[in-house]
Amino acid sequence: MSDDERCEEYLFKIVIIGDSAVGKSNLLTRYARNEFNPNSKATIGVEFQTQSMLIDNKEVKAQIWDTAGQERFRAVTSAYYRGAVGALVVYDITRTSTFENVGRWLDELNMRSANRVLLLIERFNFPVNEKSHRNDDDAHSDTTVAKMLIGNKCDLESIRAVSIEEGKSLAESQGLFFMETSALDSTNVSTAFEMVIRDIYGNIS
Ligand code: GDP
Ligand code: MG
Repeated sequence: MSDDERCEEYLFKIVIIGDSAVGKSNLLTRYARNEFNPNSKATIGVEFQTQSMLIDNKEVKAQIWDTAGQERFRAVTSAYYRGAVGALVVYDITRTSTFENVGRWLDELNMRSANRVLLLIERFNFPVNEKSHRNDDDAHSDTTVAKMLIGNKCDLESIRAVSIEEGKSLAESQGLFFMETSALDSTNVSTAFEMVIRDIYGNIS
């Protein structure tokens, strides 16, 4: 291996989305710092955390963004989604409403990441119709954003409200990876993040 190869570095932006209190912040602190916070407090201040892993002997850094509580006001900004190449869409397996809202989060993700395409087209004044917009959206979201559906809090089996099968089938129908996790007892947390990071890496190399 040459020195060039050894020094190669990658930085991927990944966003975590989903309803309030599904465990997004705790998934991130569990993955990045191996910490868990039992008190539900809106995350304020920290925009993202960075975690590195080695793939093919290359340093791959994931810059993982947390919503900082904005989801309560449906005010996640475009800046949050801008440049993201991976997304974790999280629901809480004990609250059906958070699972039912997954579609809304996916729509928002697809729409926001497609905004850039629309702006670009508008700036250059291409004659485009509704249909070609939609095709651009599809191409963009399929090719560049690695997505995983996460059913979090799987330690709370006794009060489960969404079955594993429901999660799996939603993920399959939307073309997403799927995993159940627990930020509390660490089940599948690193595995989930690393699967997304490996997928992004696989798409570009
Ligand atoms: P966010 O609003 O999506 O960022 O959710 P938080 O990470 O703030 O978590 C909301 C609440 O759920 C907190 O009280 C956490 O302690 C709790 N929580 C988060 N993840 C888990 C988990 O995997 N298992 C259990 N039992 N509780 C969790
Ligand atoms: Mg949070």
